[in-house]
Amino acid sequence: MYRTHTCGELRAQDKGKEVKLAGWVNARRDHGGVIFIDLRDRYGLTQVAFDPKRSKDAWKIADSVRPEYVVQVTGTVRHRPKGMVNKKIDTGEVEVDGNGIDVLHKAKTPPFEINTDEEVNEDVRLEYRYLDLRGERMKNNVIARAKIAKFIRNFLDERDFVEIETPILTKSTPEGARDFIVPSRQQPGKFYALPQSPQQYKQLLMVAGMDRYYQLPRCFRDEDHRGDRQAEFTQLDLEMSFVERDDVLNLAEELFTSLVTKLYPHKKLLKKPWPRLSYDEVVLTYGTDRPDLRFGLEIVELSDEARGGGFAVFDDALSHGGVVRAIAATGAASFSRSQIDELSEYVKEFGAKGLAYIVVEEKGLKSPILKFLGEERAKSIVKKTGAAPGDIVFFGAGPEGVVRESMGELRTELGRRLNLIDRNLLAAAFIIDFPLFEERKEDGHYAPSHHMFTAPRPEDIKLLDSDPHKVRSWQYDMVWNGYEVGGGSIRIHDAEVQQKIFDLIGFSEERTNEFSHMLRAFDFGAPPHGGIAPGLDRIVMILQDEPNIREVIPFPKNQRSEDRMMGAPSPVEPTQLKEAHIKVVKEA
Ligand code: ASP
Repeated sequence: MYRTHTCGELRAQDKGKEVKLAGWVNARRDHGGVIFIDLRDRYGLTQVAFDPKRSKDAWKIADSVRPEYVVQVTGTVRHRPKGMVNKKIDTGEVEVDGNGIDVLHKAKTPPFEINTDEEVNEDVRLEYRYLDLRGERMKNNVIARAKIAKFIRNFLDERDFVEIETPILTKSTPEGARDFIVPSRQQPGKFYALPQSPQQYKQLLMVAGMDRYYQLPRCFRDEDHRGDRQAEFTQLDLEMSFVERDDVLNLAEELFTSLVTKLYPHKKLLKKPWPRLSYDEVVLTYGTDRPDLRFGLEIVELSDEARGGGFAVFDDALSHGGVVRAIAATGAASFSRSQIDELSEYVKEFGAKGLAYIVVEEKGLKSPILKFLGEERAKSIVKKTGAAPGDIVFFGAGPEGVVRESMGELRTELGRRLNLIDRNLLAAAFIIDFPLFEERKEDGHYAPSHHMFTAPRPEDIKLLDSDPHKVRSWQYDMVWNGYEVGGGSIRIHDAEVQQKIFDLIGFSEERTNEFSHMLRAFDFGAPPHGGIAPGLDRIVMILQDEPNIREVIPFPKNQRSEDRMMGAPSPVEPTQLKEAHIKVVKEA
């Protein structure tokens, strides 16, 4: 038997027990002859004391061990002396009086100290991920992820959902990204695609009558990595038959509300029930379709008030069909000139030309633009923004798209700089009523705003012929604290409508044929159906208060899509290439 207890188990009531523990040496200290070893395993830390008076042999070995050695110790549990109790660890009331120690495995000095407070280069952490995972933070993230996944499974199992696996080697299911492709050995020149999501399979499972499906699949999208993006990520993918939009939203809301209440009781849900906000409303008010609702700073439309005011920047924007919008930044009057300049540079990254502003003081308004706008008009504009003394009103003027994005980004930056973000708040909402298509492409075709299986609202179907861009869809997004954590829709279940969407997207007959299995399946009796796919990585990231999803993925890739630990991607043997019928053309 390697151990009688784990390193996180012993308590005061175990006093006097003979125990055997095994784990890693977290630290070794020599206190005037007595050697203390903090022994670590996944469950915790236990202090073991080796006194040469008890066993000279054990003491000698204890003296020779170094951090990260794997050892087994035997000894007797005793209370720590008064004043030596360590409240920070669960086993802190006791220690083991060691009388034996075996080194099970020596360890090299690790490239970084486990549980160090110092920042370690991320590539080094990823190259030695198994050491990184020994530390508290990563260990807790991995365990939290497992608990979240288990909660989800239990919740859905209780509600008649069936967990069904779908293929990884499959055919392209476009979700708007590039496919990863895998050459076929048996059929030269043909390729599988890794699924961007199991979208088509889950719909076909509804045609198959499975009624309620879910899985936690890996999805693959060959796109550049960012803080909240990896080429390989995990979703909770689910689909339901005989449902309307609100059935799916209610289920997702209930699932995640109960998950957060049970597993993260310290997180306060901002609003229950979660707000359901229309796309048009949020892009106007927050400048984005994934607003961070933990704070206000709403964007105010001021085009009418600003029109003809004599301030060239506003007049110019408006006469070119643009808009003027503003944010009243609460308490920002304390910003220095250089802080305001920084913000002005910041909005330029999003296409804005600059950042006009008015400082609201007790005595009145202060701004370089007052002389153009005039006191009266400036006052009425400021009034509409709701600004009070101590605030600054920041303006955006120009084409609608630029103003929308730059004010949205400015809002987020202001929320951060003004410390308006309560980290324990979870602002969850659904965004609904998306347009079915994004802006029309240059070739005259339409790109789906979600994916091509999303159903148009029935009352808008007639507009598919006349005004496709006006068609609203049954798409919805789940948004938490400024992140899009999931999306879904009620699907098209009618082959004719599906064909029409393919036409509008500009699919050739050939491309349409690639999806003929969907059209054929619908012809055999498709139930009305819909679903959603919350991203597990982002959800765990937010709940664990981590800044990016790499921290909650056990083995993530770095920003260059490399697995530093395994050394992937890597060249393969010439024979493998030959079998796969691949010739590598090296770029110069
Ligand atoms: N397949 C979609 C996605 O991955 C989700 C869905 O429509 O259910 O975003």
